[in-house]
Parts: sequence; C-alpha cells; structure tokens
Amino acid sequence: MKGVFPLDKFKETETPFYYYDTALLRDTLRAINDEAGRHEGFCVHYAVKANANPKLLNVICQAGLGADCVSGGEIAAAVNAGFAPGKIVFAGVGKSDKEINFALDKDIFCFNVESVPELGVINELAGRKGKVARVAFRINPDVGAHTHANITTGLAENKFGIAMGDMEDVIGMACGMANVEFVGLHFHIGSQILDMGDFAALCNRINDLQNRLEASHINVAHINVGGGLGVDYTHPDKVPVPDFKAYFGTYARLLKLRKGQKLHFELGRSVVAQCGSLVSRVLYVKQGAVKRFAIIDAGMTDLIRPALYQAYHKIENLTGDGSMTTYDVVGPICESSDVFAKAVDVVECRRGDLLAIRSAGAYGEIMASQYNCRPLPKGYITEDMQ
Ligand SMILES: *Cc1c(COP(=O)(O)O)cnc(C)c1O
Repeated sequence: MKGVFPLDKFKETETPFYYYDTALLRDTLRAINDEAGRHEGFCVHYAVKANANPKLLNVICQAGLGADCVSGGEIAAAVNAGFAPGKIVFAGVGKSDKEINFALDKDIFCFNVESVPELGVINELAGRKGKVARVAFRINPDVGAHTHANITTGLAENKFGIAMGDMEDVIGMACGMANVEFVGLHFHIGSQILDMGDFAALCNRINDLQNRLEASHINVAHINVGGGLGVDYTHPDKVPVPDFKAYFGTYARLLKLRKGQKLHFELGRSVVAQCGSLVSRVLYVKQGAVKRFAIIDAGMTDLIRPALYQAYHKIENLTGDGSMTTYDVVGPICESSDVFAKAVDVVECRRGDLLAIRSAGAYGEIMASQYNCRPLPKGYITEDMQ
C-alpha cells in the first residue's frame, strides 16, 4: 500500500476516510471475467451489500457484472449506478411490501424467495400490477462453512431460506399461482470461505436436489450459488486478487449443470475487500501500565468488523520510518471493543502519522454508523485526486 497510495495528494485530507485503489479493483474484475468466462453459462453478480459506494458501483457495473441486492435501497443504488434491472436479483428474508412493489416497478430479473408467506405476498402484489414476477427459491442446503459462526448462513438452524424437504411443495405452489413464474434455485452458505471443500459440499448437495427435481419432471432454468469466497486479510499485498480460478473451477468441475442452465454467482467481499483501506491519523501514543496504545481517529463506527467479528485487518504506517513497535491500535469510541488490533507490530507511530487499515473495502464503509455523533467517513477513489 505504501508504494501505491498517493500520499502527497491526501496529506491534507480530513481523516478518517476510505481510499479505494481502482486499478486493483479493475484487475480483480478482469480476473473474475476471465475465469468465469472460461465456463459456459456462468453469470456473475456483485453483492451490493459489501460496498455501495456509487463510484465503486459504477466501475463494477462497467465491467458487466449484474447486481445482487438485499433491500429496496440497494436496488435503487444499483439502478442509479447503471446496472440494468434485467441483471438485478433481490434476496432477503424480510422483504417489505414497499420493497417488493419497487422491485416489481423496476422489472428486476428475479426475486430470491425465502418463505411461503413471502411467495404469497409477491404473487398478490404482482397481481395488482398485472405483472408476473420471476422467482427463485432460496433453499437452505444445510451445508456448514469453515468460517466465523456469525457469517455461516447455510445451516438448518439459520433463519435463511426454505428447508430442502419443502422444496418440491413450494415449487408446486408457485406453479399454481398466476402472478409468479418459477425460474430457479438459490443458495448461499456463508462468507469469507477459503476452503474450496465447502463449495464442493454445496455442489454435491445441489446435484442431489437436481436429481430429485428431475425425477419429478421439474425444470430449473437458473441455479444461483450465492457468494462467499474469502480474501487473504493477512497478506493483502501478496494476494491482492482472490483465487477466482480455483473458485469457478470448483463449480465447473463438480456442479452438474443441465442443458442450457445458467449458473449465477453473487460475489461481494472477494470483489471489493482488497482494494479498500481505511486511512486514519494517529492522535496519541499512550504508554499504559502494561501496554502501549496507538490511539487513532478512526473507530468502530468507521469499520466495525474487528469489534463485531474479531476480524483481523493488517495495519500499516504510511508515513513513519522508524523501527517496528508493538501496539494495541484503538479508536476513540467509548466502548472497550473499539479496538482494531491487539499487540500488533507497526512501524513506530508518532502523533500525526497516517495509518492504513488494509483490506477494508468490503463491509467497511457501508456498515459505518454515527454512534457518538460522529460524521460518516468519506470514500475516495484513485481518480478523485488526479
Ligand atoms: C452477503 C451475500 C452475498 C455476498 O457474500 P460475500 O461473502 O460478500 O461474497 C451473496 N449472496 C447473498 C444472498 C448474501 O446475503
């Protein structure tokens, strides 16, 4: 980051702020298009919830990806950024009538439906508009993922999706409704997954389900396997672009697509995490009774992942040139969990030094809050300062 970050251009910029390296984002998008493009019928969507900064959405839209949205607000953000409604999918366990109506008005590609009551509401609201809504059912595959418990979503105990045992009945219900059209199945097992075996387990499960449906003569036009590919938070410079070859290759090898079937992906973190850093200034260096603290002007309000998930983010001093020193790097918020890292080695910090908290492009800026009446952090892309 130190060599890449245009320090001279940002010296006077008010901190904290997010900086997005758009050259890396474009490299990442190119890798996605290259690797997905090797396989027939693969369609990649960007999961807007990872980061809805309009400037990033615009770059991602230009690369040709579709958008995966989980709220009406995200659909609006995607449409405003230029995503074609025909490439927008809408997931979420609790879609409100207002959001469903908005999505119907925009003629989005597909609703990923997560319950029978929701199916009924979509049918009714579409009927009032004289429309037919395309629906896919999110099936809970009861597949665990080797990731943090808070971000596994595909276990039977999770709130997401429809139980596998109910799949045929629910599809039957949809086929009996006048204002919905069944077009596919949707899955999403969790996030920050680096073990391809987890995706392999999902492929095996989908193969079983497809065999079952085939026996019942049910045709499925679209399979959507969600997102979840992780990034290397420990080595953002060594592994700036996730291993999309292994990821798409796993699905190509193991998932048995039927003739003409499309396979959709919804990648969030792996698209944007590595291109973003939270840039913050050191306010104070404090020697406590047993520890040395670097107190910075960014807090958990700007990047909540360490406080929420004990997530690790590499921290780099962009301006200092001393020797490595051990700190607890903490924010100014009145919460003991407002800690970015404990006992990490960083180039010696002085008041005024700029620190980069790396790999913060996903689930960073978008999760910022105004707790403690703090202003929301701004987000800049490389082009902003040219
Ligand atoms: C969050 C989410 C994604 C994106 O997950 P990543 O781990 O960021 O790739 C995709 N699909 C659905 C339904 C989601 O909820």
